[in-house]
Amino acid sequence: MKAPINELKMKIPALSVNEGACRAMVAAFCAQLDPNIEELADIKCAVSEAVTNCIVHAYAGRGGVIYITVGLYENREISVQIRDRGCGIPDVREAMQPLYTTDKSGERSGMGFAVMESFMTRLRVSSAVGRGTRVTMWKQLG
Ligand code: ATP
Ligand code: MG
Repeated sequence: MKAPINELKMKIPALSVNEGACRAMVAAFCAQLDPNIEELADIKCAVSEAVTNCIVHAYAGRGGVIYITVGLYENREISVQIRDRGCGIPDVREAMQPLYTTDKSGERSGMGFAVMESFMTRLRVSSAVGRGTRVTMWKQLG
């Protein structure tokens, strides 16, 4: 993929109070491409799922750092990469199945990746156990 025409990089503690800030900052940066309300809502939702996963799974509430990179491309495409240095995922393909969750509390439904996949144009997940996870999502704006 070509180099982005504009890029935002941020790092923020993996605290649940920061989930809204991540979502809002990514959306604010993407706003310069004039997405419609639905596109913006999709992006916010996908970011929210990925960031929540870093907080609750990668760092299991113990805290850590979330790294976010947003790229804007000439063809009105955006990329959002959300990375952690947490526990990693042993089997990414399995983890991405709808309804798959390792959560024991009953609070989670195993739909985070499915939401990211349906609200964005493309999703790629790579992970290494003990090293962390990288979620990259692309969206083609109209
Ligand atoms: P929901 O998102 O519906 O609340 P969930 O978080 O369990 O439930 P997904 O977001 O689809 O569902 O994630 C599926 C599983 O993948 C998680 O239960 C967890 O085991 C694993 N996982 C996802 N993201 C990460 C991550 N960043 N680090 C480690 N494990 C992860
Ligand atoms: Mg989730």
